[in-house]
Amino acid sequence: MSEEKIIDFLNQTREVYGDEINIEKPIISKNKKFKEEKYSSDLQTFYNQINKCLKCSLANSRTNFVFGVGDKNASLMLVGEAPGENEDLQGEPFVGRAGKLLDKILSAIDRTRDRDVYICNVLKCRPPNNRDPLVEEVNECEPYLIHQINLIKPKLIVALGRIAGKTLLNVDNSLKSMRGRIHDYHGTQLIVTYHPAALLRNPNWKPLAWEDFKWIRKIIES
Ligand code: URA
Repeated sequence: MSEEKIIDFLNQTREVYGDEINIEKPIISKNKKFKEEKYSSDLQTFYNQINKCLKCSLANSRTNFVFGVGDKNASLMLVGEAPGENEDLQGEPFVGRAGKLLDKILSAIDRTRDRDVYICNVLKCRPPNNRDPLVEEVNECEPYLIHQINLIKPKLIVALGRIAGKTLLNVDNSLKSMRGRIHDYHGTQLIVTYHPAALLRNPNWKPLAWEDFKWIRKIIES
């Protein structure tokens, strides 16, 4: 069904049932299509295949290619936007202050970064001065993430922050409009919640993030 037809349908439904349905932003999968590449079906071999990547200019400024860490059989996959300075230096995602908060959140849902959780980013290399990822960088790097997902087969992907959410969902929406619903990312359920760095800046959002993580636990344990 085309997007227009879906909106028509939702408009008709609204006439009958009232305004409970959000017709501004119907959930329509806008997943980008990528060419299938021949990558290994073993995660470590896949890392060996791609960690010298030269597909975009971030290769020139990176210290480390930040592939991802965690349980290769995880039911929960957390995806941030891109490595920051500490991550670039250490070669591991979410190791700075935001990462420490993320570890605490995970422990509150009885998990750790290597038990039933896999953590990575949309981009595997740090953008200079932590600027937002560019479209051309995402286009080169996103197939790596899709292959990681195909190997790990998580039950749920959680995009951390608006940038990760909007990049993966291929929309330009607010965090508020992406949060609180289940989206589709190439056949896997995806939800969007606050970036831990945003929670450090705005601690009053922590209760909302906690609601999200209770929901996340329910989904992965159901
Ligand atoms: N922010 C991110 O989005 N990813 C990291 O790995 C660290 C900080």
